[in-house]
Amino acid sequence: MMPAVFIGHGSPENALEKNEFTDAWKQLAREIPTPKAILSISAHWLTEGTAVTAMEKPRTIHDFYGFPQELYDVEYKAKGSLEHANLVRESVKAVKVSLDKEWGLDHGTWSVLVNMYSKADIPVIQLSLDYYLSLEKQYQLGKELKALREKGVLIMGSGNIVHNLGMITPEGPAYKWAVDFDSFVKKALEKRDDSSLINYRKAPSAELSHPTYDHYLPLLYVLGASENEKPRFLCEKIFYGSLSMRCAVFGIENRM
Ligand code: ZN
Repeated sequence: MMPAVFIGHGSPENALEKNEFTDAWKQLAREIPTPKAILSISAHWLTEGTAVTAMEKPRTIHDFYGFPQELYDVEYKAKGSLEHANLVRESVKAVKVSLDKEWGLDHGTWSVLVNMYSKADIPVIQLSLDYYLSLEKQYQLGKELKALREKGVLIMGSGNIVHNLGMITPEGPAYKWAVDFDSFVKKALEKRDDSSLINYRKAPSAELSHPTYDHYLPLLYVLGASENEKPRFLCEKIFYGSLSMRCAVFGIENRM
Protein backbone atom coordinates (compact mmCIF):
# COMPACT_ATOMS: atom_id res chain seq x y z
CA MET A 1 0.00 0.00 0.00
CA MET A 2 1.36 3.42 -0.92
CA PRO A 3 1.71 6.00 1.85
CA ALA A 4 -0.50 9.07 2.06
CA VAL A 5 1.33 12.32 2.69
CA PHE A 6 0.51 15.86 3.69
CA ILE A 7 3.15 18.35 2.57
CA GLY A 8 3.48 21.87 3.95
CA HIS A 9 4.54 23.54 0.69
CA GLY A 10 5.25 27.12 1.83
CA SER A 11 6.71 29.48 -0.74
CA PRO A 12 6.68 28.65 -4.47
CA GLU A 13 10.40 29.42 -4.39
CA ASN A 14 10.94 26.00 -2.83
CA ALA A 15 10.72 24.79 -6.43
CA LEU A 16 14.17 26.28 -7.06
CA GLU A 17 15.77 26.40 -3.65
CA LYS A 18 17.78 23.81 -1.83
CA ASN A 19 16.89 23.98 1.84
CA GLU A 20 15.91 21.78 4.77
CA PHE A 21 12.36 21.39 3.43
CA THR A 22 13.29 20.43 -0.12
CA ASP A 23 15.94 18.05 1.24
CA ALA A 24 13.30 16.33 3.39
CA TRP A 25 10.88 16.01 0.44
CA LYS A 26 13.61 14.50 -1.72
CA GLN A 27 14.56 12.08 1.02
CA LEU A 28 10.91 11.07 1.41
CA ALA A 29 10.63 10.26 -2.30
CA ARG A 30 13.72 8.07 -2.03
CA GLU A 31 12.31 6.13 0.90
CA ILE A 32 8.83 5.31 -0.31
CA PRO A 33 7.96 2.89 -3.13
CA THR A 34 7.82 4.48 -6.58
CA PRO A 35 4.18 5.38 -7.22
CA LYS A 36 2.32 4.35 -10.37
CA ALA A 37 0.63 7.74 -10.28
CA ILE A 38 0.29 10.72 -7.94
CA LEU A 39 -3.01 12.20 -6.87
CA SER A 40 -2.35 15.70 -5.62
CA ILE A 41 -4.90 17.63 -3.59
CA SER A 42 -3.57 21.17 -3.62
CA ALA A 43 -4.70 24.17 -1.62
CA HIS A 44 -4.56 26.20 -4.82
CA TRP A 45 -7.40 24.62 -6.78
CA LEU A 46 -10.70 25.72 -5.30
CA THR A 47 -13.90 24.96 -7.14
CA GLU A 48 -17.62 24.64 -6.71
CA GLY A 49 -18.17 20.90 -7.02
CA THR A 50 -15.31 18.38 -7.15
CA ALA A 51 -13.22 17.80 -10.24
CA VAL A 52 -10.23 15.70 -11.21
CA THR A 53 -7.80 16.64 -13.97
CA ALA A 54 -8.16 14.38 -16.97
CA MET A 55 -5.88 15.78 -19.65
CA GLU A 56 -3.00 13.93 -21.23
CA LYS A 57 -0.50 16.75 -20.77
CA PRO A 58 -1.39 18.97 -17.81
CA ARG A 59 0.03 22.49 -18.12
CA THR A 60 2.27 23.99 -15.43
CA ILE A 61 0.28 26.80 -13.84
CA HIS A 62 2.28 29.74 -12.45
CA ASP A 63 -0.37 30.91 -10.03
CA PHE A 64 1.58 33.54 -8.06
CA TYR A 65 2.73 37.11 -8.47
CA GLY A 66 5.92 39.07 -7.93
CA PHE A 67 8.43 36.22 -7.97
CA PRO A 68 11.67 36.00 -9.99
CA GLN A 69 11.33 35.18 -13.69
CA GLU A 70 13.10 31.85 -13.33
CA LEU A 71 10.18 30.57 -11.29
CA TYR A 72 7.82 31.39 -14.16
CA ASP A 73 10.14 29.48 -16.47
CA VAL A 74 9.74 26.22 -14.54
CA GLU A 75 7.77 23.64 -16.49
CA TYR A 76 6.89 20.37 -14.80
CA LYS A 77 6.12 18.06 -17.66
CA ALA A 78 4.57 15.06 -15.96
CA LYS A 79 1.84 13.35 -17.93
CA GLY A 80 -1.73 13.15 -16.73
CA SER A 81 -3.64 9.89 -16.51
CA LEU A 82 -7.19 9.46 -17.68
CA GLU A 83 -7.08 5.94 -16.28
CA HIS A 84 -6.40 7.23 -12.76
CA ALA A 85 -8.82 10.12 -13.13
CA ASN A 86 -11.53 7.56 -13.89
CA LEU A 87 -10.40 5.49 -10.94
CA VAL A 88 -10.96 8.53 -8.70
CA ARG A 89 -14.37 9.06 -10.21
CA GLU A 90 -15.35 5.44 -9.62
CA SER A 91 -13.98 5.33 -6.08
CA VAL A 92 -15.74 8.44 -4.83
CA LYS A 93 -19.39 7.96 -4.00
CA ALA A 94 -19.90 10.86 -1.57
CA VAL A 95 -20.03 13.44 -4.35
CA LYS A 96 -20.03 13.50 -8.12
CA VAL A 97 -16.52 14.05 -9.47
CA SER A 98 -16.30 15.69 -12.88
CA LEU A 99 -13.45 15.26 -15.35
CA ASP A 100 -11.57 18.51 -15.91
CA LYS A 101 -9.71 19.39 -19.08
CA GLU A 102 -8.63 22.92 -18.21
CA TRP A 103 -6.73 23.14 -14.96
CA GLY A 104 -3.33 21.41 -14.93
CA LEU A 105 -0.72 21.41 -12.17
CA ASP A 106 -0.63 24.42 -9.87
CA HIS A 107 2.35 25.36 -7.73
CA GLY A 108 0.97 23.52 -4.68
CA THR A 109 1.69 20.40 -6.73
CA TRP A 110 4.71 21.14 -8.90
CA SER A 111 6.82 23.15 -6.45
CA VAL A 112 6.88 19.99 -4.33
CA LEU A 113 7.07 17.36 -7.08
CA VAL A 114 9.90 19.09 -8.93
CA ASN A 115 11.88 18.25 -5.79
CA MET A 116 10.46 14.79 -5.08
CA TYR A 117 10.39 13.51 -8.65
CA SER A 118 12.56 15.82 -10.68
CA LYS A 119 12.37 13.65 -13.80
CA ALA A 120 8.60 14.19 -13.96
CA ASP A 121 8.27 10.58 -15.08
CA ILE A 122 5.28 9.67 -12.92
CA PRO A 123 1.76 10.63 -14.10
CA VAL A 124 0.11 13.30 -11.93
CA ILE A 125 -3.54 14.16 -11.53
CA GLN A 126 -5.10 16.79 -9.27
CA LEU A 127 -8.33 16.70 -7.32
CA SER A 128 -9.99 20.05 -6.69
CA LEU A 129 -11.24 21.32 -3.34
CA ASP A 130 -14.94 22.09 -3.25
CA TYR A 131 -14.98 25.17 -1.06
CA TYR A 132 -18.71 24.74 -0.46
CA LEU A 133 -18.53 21.19 0.85
CA SER A 134 -18.65 20.63 4.63
CA LEU A 135 -15.39 19.69 6.34
CA GLU A 136 -16.91 16.38 7.42
CA LYS A 137 -17.81 15.55 3.85
CA GLN A 138 -14.32 16.42 2.59
CA TYR A 139 -12.94 14.01 5.17
CA GLN A 140 -15.39 11.32 3.96
CA LEU A 141 -14.23 11.93 0.43
CA GLY A 142 -10.67 11.29 1.58
CA LYS A 143 -11.79 7.93 3.02
CA GLU A 144 -13.10 6.90 -0.35
CA LEU A 145 -9.76 7.71 -1.92
CA LYS A 146 -7.95 5.24 0.32
CA ALA A 147 -8.55 2.39 -2.14
CA LEU A 148 -6.26 4.15 -4.63
CA ARG A 149 -3.31 3.61 -2.32
CA GLU A 150 -3.70 -0.12 -2.85
CA LYS A 151 -3.36 0.48 -6.57
CA GLY A 152 0.01 2.19 -6.26
CA VAL A 153 -1.26 5.77 -6.16
CA LEU A 154 0.50 8.24 -3.89
CA ILE A 155 -2.07 10.53 -2.29
CA MET A 156 -0.46 13.89 -1.59
CA GLY A 157 -2.25 16.72 0.16
CA SER A 158 -0.40 20.01 -0.29
CA GLY A 159 -1.19 22.98 1.95
CA ASN A 160 0.10 24.33 5.27
CA ILE A 161 -0.99 23.50 8.81
CA VAL A 162 -0.63 27.17 9.75
CA HIS A 163 -1.06 29.65 6.88
CA ASN A 164 -1.44 33.36 7.47
CA LEU A 165 0.26 35.29 4.66
CA GLY A 166 -0.95 38.63 6.01
CA MET A 167 1.25 38.21 9.08
CA ILE A 168 4.45 36.73 7.68
CA THR A 169 7.61 38.20 9.18
CA PRO A 170 10.83 37.31 7.36
CA GLU A 171 13.47 36.48 9.98
CA GLY A 172 10.85 36.79 12.70
CA PRO A 173 10.26 34.12 15.35
CA ALA A 174 7.11 32.02 15.16
CA TYR A 175 4.04 33.69 16.64
CA LYS A 176 2.78 32.04 19.77
CA TRP A 177 -0.63 31.45 18.20
CA ALA A 178 1.04 29.70 15.26
CA VAL A 179 3.01 27.43 17.60
CA ASP A 180 -0.17 26.70 19.57
CA PHE A 181 -2.19 25.71 16.53
CA ASP A 182 0.61 23.67 14.98
CA SER A 183 1.02 21.81 18.25
CA PHE A 184 -2.74 21.22 18.53
CA VAL A 185 -2.65 19.58 15.08
CA LYS A 186 0.44 17.56 15.89
CA LYS A 187 -1.10 16.16 19.09
CA ALA A 188 -4.44 15.43 17.45
CA LEU A 189 -2.66 13.59 14.62
CA GLU A 190 -0.67 11.53 17.10
CA LYS A 191 -3.86 10.58 18.93
CA ARG A 192 -5.72 10.22 15.63
CA ASP A 193 -8.38 12.46 17.05
CA ASP A 194 -9.79 13.07 13.59
CA SER A 195 -12.97 14.56 14.97
CA SER A 196 -11.04 17.46 16.57
CA LEU A 197 -9.16 17.97 13.32
CA ILE A 198 -12.38 18.12 11.32
CA ASN A 199 -13.78 20.58 13.87
CA TYR A 200 -10.51 22.53 13.96
CA ARG A 201 -12.28 25.85 14.26
CA LYS A 202 -12.84 25.14 17.96
CA ALA A 203 -9.07 24.88 18.51
CA PRO A 204 -7.04 27.76 19.96
CA SER A 205 -5.90 30.31 17.37
CA ALA A 206 -7.74 28.56 14.54
CA GLU A 207 -8.90 31.82 13.02
CA LEU A 208 -5.47 33.44 13.04
CA SER A 209 -3.89 30.25 11.71
CA HIS A 210 -6.36 30.05 8.82
CA PRO A 211 -8.01 33.35 7.91
CA THR A 212 -9.19 31.30 4.91
CA TYR A 213 -9.01 27.55 5.21
CA ASP A 214 -7.85 26.49 1.74
CA HIS A 215 -4.41 25.45 3.03
CA TYR A 216 -5.93 23.36 5.81
CA LEU A 217 -8.40 21.42 3.65
CA PRO A 218 -5.91 19.06 1.93
CA LEU A 219 -5.07 17.65 5.38
CA LEU A 220 -8.65 16.39 5.77
CA TYR A 221 -8.38 14.31 2.60
CA VAL A 222 -5.10 12.79 3.72
CA LEU A 223 -6.63 12.04 7.12
CA GLY A 224 -9.60 10.31 5.54
CA ALA A 225 -7.29 8.27 3.33
CA SER A 226 -5.19 7.13 6.30
CA GLU A 227 -7.75 6.42 9.02
CA ASN A 228 -6.18 5.12 12.25
CA GLU A 229 -2.63 5.18 10.85
CA LYS A 230 0.04 6.90 12.90
CA PRO A 231 1.87 9.90 11.45
CA ARG A 232 5.56 10.41 10.94
CA PHE A 233 6.48 14.09 10.84
CA LEU A 234 8.94 15.94 8.66
CA CYS A 235 9.90 19.63 8.52
CA GLU A 236 8.57 20.55 11.96
CA LYS A 237 9.24 24.23 11.61
CA ILE A 238 7.31 27.46 11.44
CA PHE A 239 8.70 29.60 8.66
CA TYR A 240 8.35 33.39 8.41
CA GLY A 241 6.47 33.44 11.72
CA SER A 242 3.14 32.25 10.38
CA LEU A 243 3.67 29.33 7.97
CA SER A 244 3.92 25.84 9.40
CA MET A 245 6.03 23.65 7.14
CA ARG A 246 5.05 20.49 9.01
CA CYS A 247 4.57 17.42 6.82
CA ALA A 248 2.81 14.27 7.98
CA VAL A 249 3.38 10.91 6.35
CA PHE A 250 1.12 7.92 6.93
CA GLY A 251 1.78 4.30 6.08
CA ILE A 252 5.57 4.19 6.21
CA GLU A 253 6.32 3.54 9.89
CA ASN A 254 7.39 -0.04 9.27
CA ARG A 255 9.69 0.85 6.47
CA MET A 256 11.61 3.77 7.93
ZN1 ZN B 1 0.15 27.70 -1.01
